[in-house]
Amino acid sequence: MNLPHDDNTCGWYAALPPQGPARRLTGRQIADYAVIGAGFAGLAAARRLAAHEPHARILLIDAQRVAEGASGRNSGFVIDLPHKFALENPDPAFKQRLLRLNRAAIDQLQSLVEAHGIACQWSHAGKYQGAVGERGLAYLAHFEKLMAALGEPYRAVDGPDLARVLGTSCYSRAIYTPGSYLVQPAALVRGLAASLPENVELLENSPITRVERDGTGGYVLYGKDGEVRTRNLLLGTSIFTREFGYLENRLLPVMTFASWTAPLTEEQSKRYGGTFDWGLTPADHAGTTVRMTQDRRLIIRNTYKHVPKYGRSVGNATRDSIRVEHRKAFLSRFPALADVPFTHTWGGVYAISRNFTNFFGQLEDGVFAAACDNGVGAAWGTISGTLLADYAVGAQSSLLDDIHAVTGMPSLNPPEPFLGLGVRTRIRLAAWQSRAEL
Ligand SMILES: Cc1cc2nc3c(=O)[nH]c(=O)nc-3n(C[C@H](O)[C@H](O)[C@H](O)COP(=O)(O)OP(=O)(O)OC[C@H]3O[C@@H](n4cnc5c(N)ncnc54)[C@H](O)[C@@H]3O)c2cc1C
Repeated sequence: MNLPHDDNTCGWYAALPPQGPARRLTGRQIADYAVIGAGFAGLAAARRLAAHEPHARILLIDAQRVAEGASGRNSGFVIDLPHKFALENPDPAFKQRLLRLNRAAIDQLQSLVEAHGIACQWSHAGKYQGAVGERGLAYLAHFEKLMAALGEPYRAVDGPDLARVLGTSCYSRAIYTPGSYLVQPAALVRGLAASLPENVELLENSPITRVERDGTGGYVLYGKDGEVRTRNLLLGTSIFTREFGYLENRLLPVMTFASWTAPLTEEQSKRYGGTFDWGLTPADHAGTTVRMTQDRRLIIRNTYKHVPKYGRSVGNATRDSIRVEHRKAFLSRFPALADVPFTHTWGGVYAISRNFTNFFGQLEDGVFAAACDNGVGAAWGTISGTLLADYAVGAQSSLLDDIHAVTGMPSLNPPEPFLGLGVRTRIRLAAWQSRAEL
C-alpha cells in the first residue's frame, strides 16, 4: 500500500516553531465519524461535522504530522478564479458556481484566521499571471478574453510598472486579478488543526493501512497500533484515496517542486528593488510560479513529475537536479541576487484526472470523499471538505447544489505502460514548449 511519505525538506514546515508530540491512534476506538486525511479537505470536513453534531465523537486521522502533506507544502495561493481548464468551460453558469464555491472557501478561511488569530501571513494580495515571451503573451491575451467574458475585474501591468512590483524585468506583461489570497500554508494548516472544535480528536502519525466492512453496516479502520469502528467514513486523502480501493484507475499522481531562499537581508532587499508580498503564476501553465513572501523570501516552483510510486518522496539526486532547474529560473529573474542561495527544496504530490474533473460525493454506504482537485486545493479542498460533511449528514444548501453541478467522475486511465508513457510525454512536451517561460 502507498502510504504518505513526504520529504522533510519543506521550507514552510521548517519555518514553523517546534511542536509537542503527536497523539496517535492506539487501542480500539469507536467514533461516530472518522475522517482520514488532515489536509485542507479533511480539516474542513471534521470542523463542519462538529458544527452539525457537537456531541458526536469525530476522529481526524493523518499518516503524518499536520502540514507535512501537500496542504502544508504548496505555494500558498488561495485562488478564487476557476482553474485554467475550468475557465475554458463554455457554460458561464459553471464558472459562476466555481467562483461562488472558491469565494465561500476564502471567506471561511479568513473568518477562521481572524477568529483564532492564526499567524500565517494571510494576505489579500491578489495574483499576477505573468508572461515572459511570445508564448506566454499569447496565453495571457486568451486569459484576458476569458476574464472579460466572466465579468471579473482585472488589470494589465507591463514593462517598468511590473518590474517595480516584482523586482525583475524578466516579465513583459502580467494580468493582475484581485480576488486571490496568499498565505504561509503550513502555518495556516497547523493553525486550523490547533483550533478544531473540542469534539474533534486529531490523531497524527497514524497511517490507516486497511479499511474493512464490519458486517453490520459499518467499517473498521486498521492502523499500526489501533483500530477505529465507525459507520461514517469521510476521505480527505487526495491521491491516496486509490489505496482504499476507490477511484483506483481514475486519479493520476503528480508531483511538483519548490525552492526558497532565506529572508533577504536589508542590503539584498535593496538590490532586489521590488515590493514584498506578491505571487505570480505563469500565463503558460507549464511555466514557473514565483512568490515574494511577507518575510522576504523568494520562492520558485516548477517541474512536474508523474509519480506512480507516490508513497515515497523523490531521492536526493532528483531533488538536486530539480534545484538546478529552480536556480536557472531564479537567476534569469533575479541576476542581482546570484549570491542568495536556496535553503530548502521540496516536492509534494496531488491528484489530477485526465478530464480535469474533481470527484465529490458518496463512494458507497457511509463512505464519502472529496478527492482530486487538479492541483488547486487550498480553496477547493476547504470548500469540498466542508460540503462533504454537509452531504454526509444530509444537510442542504445552494453551495451543495453548486458543488454537485461542477463535479463528476474523473475519466478512466488507460492501462500501463500506455498511461505512464502518455503522461510523461505530455509533461516533457509541455516543459519543452514552455522553456522560454520557465
Ligand atoms: C509544490 C506545490 C505547490 C502547490 N501550490 C498550490 C497553490 O498555490 N494553491 C493551491 O490551491 N494548491 C496548490 N497545490 C496543490 C494543493 O497543495 C493540493 O491540491 C491540496 O493540498 C490538496 O488538499 P487535500 O486536503 O485534498 O489533500 P492533502 O493535502 O494531500 O491531504 C491528504 C492527507 O491525507 C493523508 N493520508 C493519505 N493517506 C493516508 C492514510 N492511509 N492514513 C492516514 N492519512 C493518510 C496525508 O498524509 C495528507 O495529509 C500545490 C501542490 C504542491 C505540491
